[in-house]
Amino acid sequence: MNAVWEALQQVVPVDRIQRDAMLAPFTTFQIGGPADLLVLPHSIRELQDCMRVLHDHKIEPFVLGLGSNVLIQDGGMRGVVLCLKELQEEQYHEGTTITMSAGYTLKEVSEYAQRESLSGLEFAIGIPGSLGGAVFMNAGAYDGEMDQVVIGVDAVDMQGHLHHYNREDLQFAYRHSRFHENHEIIVRVTMELQEGNPDDIQKRMDELTEKRESKQPLEHASAGSTFKRPPGYYAGTLIDQTGLKGLSVGPAEVSVKHAGFVVNRGGATANDVLGVIHEVQKRIYAGHGVQLEPEVRILGEAQERTSSVVTIVRAKEEDIPALSKLCADTFRETFSHDNTEEELQAFFDETYNHNILKSELGDSESETYLAYVEDELAGYLKVNWGDAQTERELVNAFEVQRLYVLKDYHGQGVGKALFEKALRIAESGDFDWAWLGVWEKNYKAQHFYKCYGFEKFGEHQFIVTPEKADIDWLLKKSL
Ligand SMILES: Cc1cc2nc3c(=O)[nH]c(=O)nc-3n(C[C@H](O)[C@H](O)[C@H](O)COP(=O)(O)OP(=O)(O)OC[C@H]3O[C@@H](n4cnc5c(N)ncnc54)[C@H](O)[C@@H]3O)c2cc1C
Repeated sequence: MNAVWEALQQVVPVDRIQRDAMLAPFTTFQIGGPADLLVLPHSIRELQDCMRVLHDHKIEPFVLGLGSNVLIQDGGMRGVVLCLKELQEEQYHEGTTITMSAGYTLKEVSEYAQRESLSGLEFAIGIPGSLGGAVFMNAGAYDGEMDQVVIGVDAVDMQGHLHHYNREDLQFAYRHSRFHENHEIIVRVTMELQEGNPDDIQKRMDELTEKRESKQPLEHASAGSTFKRPPGYYAGTLIDQTGLKGLSVGPAEVSVKHAGFVVNRGGATANDVLGVIHEVQKRIYAGHGVQLEPEVRILGEAQERTSSVVTIVRAKEEDIPALSKLCADTFRETFSHDNTEEELQAFFDETYNHNILKSELGDSESETYLAYVEDELAGYLKVNWGDAQTERELVNAFEVQRLYVLKDYHGQGVGKALFEKALRIAESGDFDWAWLGVWEKNYKAQHFYKCYGFEKFGEHQFIVTPEKADIDWLLKKSL
């Protein structure tokens, strides 16, 4: 890579060539390991020169726009990544056509059209990609698609030559264009629009933005819809109907706001996201015989996991027999030393019977989650919230009521994963109190929380107000 790096410096200013550049900040998922070399060309000329250098070194680069439809794996990308987001040298209109460089954001493109009183790009306002990426993907939303407006594209090939394509050469189809096959780099796009009233155009863009904000989990990092629309279905609806909202591996989660999105709730790795993707694919196939294909492009090198994959899924009615057994097994493992079998059985019959568990699962101020390690049930979590839901009847409190892990799975990060899940649920509510669930005889846990400044409250509960919870620090401890 040294020779390529040196040769690239002859054609691109050195501050726009980065070695071992972490790619996470260049993606909307905020995930991705390092690229050997990352280059950010500013002009078509610079890009052509780069391509000639790379061709001489027999390197085919990977092209990144705004990274809003990619999942870059934790091992990063070998070779050269060309990020086009700074290619913003041209922007002009002639009559009802506009031409812009590929690095402009779709937001900038649709706002430019609006300023020029041109209608047809309102659909694109909230799609967070670059113009080049949008043509590559034939991006679309709300009945609009790039193929309805694009009439010409200029692209640079692997030898650095510039080509022009008319609309009929672009082979647009659902999330597809000719550039998937010919690997050329889109640098300039011409779009044909219609004359319109700028106020009406703005109004439509505002409506679509509002619609998007109310439906999509824009507060979390993601790459938009994770799966392609399977024939005859909507991926999000299938996932929702299968009860997979909230399914998580680490901080990667099927959004509870929109089941079609896998979100990164902070610090997720590509392995976590892939864990969620694979689990969703498996469960949808088992339940409906539908094979979901990722829409997100999965790139780069995998990095081996060092810990067990813990998948957390919200418990449903059909899980009651397995949940009941898990509750009994974990309870027996924890309390058999000072209770007779008859006492335990009486407790199970009263506390973990079908009707009680069914009513717990139906409670709107409570959630129960199951943790799986490699398809085997390993533990569970029950959280409650709301006024007077907690044991001490605190107002507006969140409580971890039960968190149990089977002995065979101790030390594999299951408790930590369940606890993190609880904290994420607590974070998304506006609670005055959070109770983490410690009993007076659990000296180990008491010591654990005391060390981190948690207050003792009443007889047997540790309470922490949200400001006092140093969650990051706490989670460094293995539960
Ligand atoms: C919150 C959110 C909402 C979204 N909503 C929508 C939506 O409504 N509709 C929709 O269609 N998509 C949506 N997306 C997905 C994404 O924004 C689009 O697919 C977008 O077109 C990708 O553009 P990008 O520049 O980010 O491409 P990237 O993610 O950087 O790249 C995607 C692919 O395009 C290729 N590529 C990028 N630029 C070029 C170029 N100049 N020349 C050649 N190849 C290139 C890359 O090699 C890669 O294979 C959403 C994403 C997010 C995060």
